[in-house]
Amino acid sequence: MADRIQPRDDVALMPGYHSPQVDVEVRLNTNESPLPPPESWRADLAAAIDRIGWHRYPDRAAAVLRERIGALHAVGPEQVFVANGSNEVLQTLCLTYGGAGRQVAVFEPTYALHSHIARLTGTGVATGERAADFTIDLAEVRRVLIEAQPAITYLCSPNNPTGLVETEATVREVLELAPGLVAVDEAYGQFAPWSALELLDEDVPLVVTRTFSKTWSMAAARLGYLVGPTWVVAELEKVVLPYHLDALKQAAGTLALDHVEEMERRVAAVVEERGRLELALRDLPCDVWPSGANFVLFRPQERAGAEVWQDLLDQSVLIRDCSSWPRLDGCLRVTIGTPDEDDRFLAALRRSLTPPTAPRNVE
Ligand SMILES: *Cc1c(COP(=O)(O)O)cnc(C)c1O
Repeated sequence: MADRIQPRDDVALMPGYHSPQVDVEVRLNTNESPLPPPESWRADLAAAIDRIGWHRYPDRAAAVLRERIGALHAVGPEQVFVANGSNEVLQTLCLTYGGAGRQVAVFEPTYALHSHIARLTGTGVATGERAADFTIDLAEVRRVLIEAQPAITYLCSPNNPTGLVETEATVREVLELAPGLVAVDEAYGQFAPWSALELLDEDVPLVVTRTFSKTWSMAAARLGYLVGPTWVVAELEKVVLPYHLDALKQAAGTLALDHVEEMERRVAAVVEERGRLELALRDLPCDVWPSGANFVLFRPQERAGAEVWQDLLDQSVLIRDCSSWPRLDGCLRVTIGTPDEDDRFLAALRRSLTPPTAPRNVE
């Protein structure tokens, strides 16, 4: 048999992306919205499908969608780059500013795809460590940035999986220190009290990425975007494949922006529910990190995280097992669901953490 062609050496050594998709009754593992999009959005989208010229390529510039996203953030469409999920935004960033001989900087623990996507594009990854409480340690940032001179420095606020929101002072300091772009991943930005969007300026090398996958109840659609200086957006447009954003997705995103108030109400409800869940977790033998997102990181104190994860799965509750991630020994992450789903989760967790009453000694 002829030898099979091997992939690039670095790809051959790479693990794939692991996030189990299991059929369960309560799914709290990937930080989606617990609610489907509004009914009227579905009806409007059905009507829009009827109007699509399916034999023609879509609007390559996605002009209407970018105009509407820009209006949401009080910037022009030339400051908005849209793609198939914010993961494709991150990939395009790396293809444009990374590549062979260049580096990105990440500070662990953080979103695994920042380093994974960088490596896929042949970009080196310089890894720094967050402080013990998972806040950004500026001395460490200084060390990594001086050593690696990264083209892109990633921040994630609120940070996945810790839930921590970076302060404005931290983002400003990192902007001062970074030799290249600073990319703030705000996939959970709507749940946080402030946004790095406030710091955007033509002269500031800052980009902010967002997604329709979480707050917008549209994870199935794969739509994300970046807001940044026009000179960055223009370069990204050169790199992304022509017609990458199909007509249906452009319509879906544009119509979603008719429902901003409904989305804001939902965000408020999730934030309230998050408070309830955090309180309940603190009543259990668990370490709990304060969250500015739609999930909570916690660590059972008396049992191994992976065992607790399996216990919950046995009760048809799926959460995220982070216990093997850098710096997260024993940690689990739960997405805020509906109050009913969260009650199911809490009941299953209580069962897992409460030792069965000792068997009676029959002598
Ligand atoms: C969920 C998530 C994303 C979203 O990616 P999409 O490709 O838009 O679904 C991006 N960044 C972080 C930190 C996330 O948690």
